[in-house]
Amino acid sequence: MATVLVFLDNPGATLNKSERELLSLAASLGEGTAALASEAGQAYLDGVGSYGVAACHVPADADLGTYLVAGKAAFLAEAVRLSGAQVVLLGNSYEEKEIAARVGVRLNAGVITDVVGLDPDLTATKSDFAGSYTVTCRATTGIAVFTVKPNSYEAAEAGTPEGPRIIPVETALPAAAARITGRVDKPASGRPELSEARVIVAGGRGVEGNFKPLEELADALGGAVGASRAATDAGWIEHSAQVGQTGKTVSPQLYISAGISGAVQQKAGMQTAKVIVAVNKDADSPVFEIADFGIIGDLFTVLPQATEEIRKRRV
Ligand SMILES: Cc1cc2nc3c(=O)[nH]c(=O)nc-3n(C[C@H](O)[C@H](O)[C@H](O)COP(=O)(O)OP(=O)(O)OC[C@H]3O[C@@H](n4cnc5c(N)ncnc54)[C@H](O)[C@@H]3O)c2cc1C
Repeated sequence: MATVLVFLDNPGATLNKSERELLSLAASLGEGTAALASEAGQAYLDGVGSYGVAACHVPADADLGTYLVAGKAAFLAEAVRLSGAQVVLLGNSYEEKEIAARVGVRLNAGVITDVVGLDPDLTATKSDFAGSYTVTCRATTGIAVFTVKPNSYEAAEAGTPEGPRIIPVETALPAAAARITGRVDKPASGRPELSEARVIVAGGRGVEGNFKPLEELADALGGAVGASRAATDAGWIEHSAQVGQTGKTVSPQLYISAGISGAVQQKAGMQTAKVIVAVNKDADSPVFEIADFGIIGDLFTVLPQATEEIRKRRV
């Protein structure tokens, strides 16, 4: 049975959805083990253990968290060596893709990114060129490294919470590794994280810098606020809100697109949403080609009406 190592880059208070998906995928492929890039609390460790992970590799040097990707890659490569893992799973963030690439070089391992499906025989499915092509591929090396897109694999029910065995890993850090010298916490919006939200209200250039009607609708629905690249590039909302080819891939139950034309690069990040509602004042806008429900109208009229109606029905 293959040993499958899951890299968990930013342990929080408890496991998030994409971490549960990775751990479930690992359990389906073989014997799961984990490597945590920084210290974690007992609730988090119990959560990891509840997916059948018996051992967690952690950095022996608590300072590792202050290094950027080079330090984490050195640690992960060492954890792979110690555990004897043949399969390594990471998330699909830019940082994790870079870590995967560096681990691939260190271990002479094949690396496959943007994975949306992984068969028991390790054949990976990738969605390429903004979802225009579906590609299947396999690593031919002894160790295979995969970065997996969120929402690609259904998280299984967790078992009994049980803290895994902790294995400290001594890492020789590369001399030239860049270090983080300060961190500022982002103020909490109280809204769900974009890639995990069940409802997303996303705005584009048509919002003209005013995201208030979108935030109000998102709050009425308990959802998150997303954006097109035109809106993030304009500085109207932070870059972490960008949905699409070069932003986040989301798969909510409901995606409300407002003032977004529906370019192929935007679609690449949201076309797997269960229900898409588009609000656009141009009846010929391409977004209506993928929308389940289309509203031709001014978003500054349509969204406040929807919010008011939802609030009324909630009372
Ligand atoms: C390599 C590359 C990567 C990219 N990655 C991404 C990505 O990750 N995500 C992404 O989104 N884009 C991405 N883009 C950009 C993409 O090609 C489009 O330029 C962008 O999505 C357009 O954003 P938009 O729909 O908000 O703006 P526009 O295309 O300008 O559309 C604005 C829409 O708003 C409508 N509108 C205007 N006013 C109102 C109103 N009051 N009420 C209702 N509707 C209104 C208009 O009719 C129009 O359809 C990428 C491009 C490249 C080349």
